[in-house]
Amino acid sequence: MKNSITRKIEIDMGHRIPNHKSKCRNIHGHRYIFEACVSGKNVRVKGASDEGMIIDFSDLKEAMMKEIHERLDHGFMMYDNDPFAPQFRKFHSQKIIFVPFVPTAENIAKYTYGLLKPKLASKKMKLENITVWETPNSSASYND
Ligand SMILES: [Zn+2]
Repeated sequence: MKNSITRKIEIDMGHRIPNHKSKCRNIHGHRYIFEACVSGKNVRVKGASDEGMIIDFSDLKEAMMKEIHERLDHGFMMYDNDPFAPQFRKFHSQKIIFVPFVPTAENIAKYTYGLLKPKLASKKMKLENITVWETPNSSASYND
């Protein structure tokens, strides 16, 4: 038996799915919600600030802000092989995050899992999964 906790952050980010059969091929954005689930053993140090916690919610938030929010918020995620990529590479003053994958919710979940996992890896805790909500009704999750 073990505990797990979940912390949520939100970002605004644009993307497009270059080969999509319908409207997702257009440049558009989402209010993405990222949920990180961490499992592990509760801290047992008497009198410690985080006694009884796997990790302080604020420390988990800080890791998510640094690895996900700072990197992606108000950016535009673009597939390296998107036919528009050569033009977008000229926009030096813009926050464009080129990635080696089509920026679907599934791939964004895997990507952000990879960013966050090493920051939360210790003997006592583990990043279980990341869930990315692209709309209020649609999400994708990733775990190892
Ligand atoms: Zn979209």
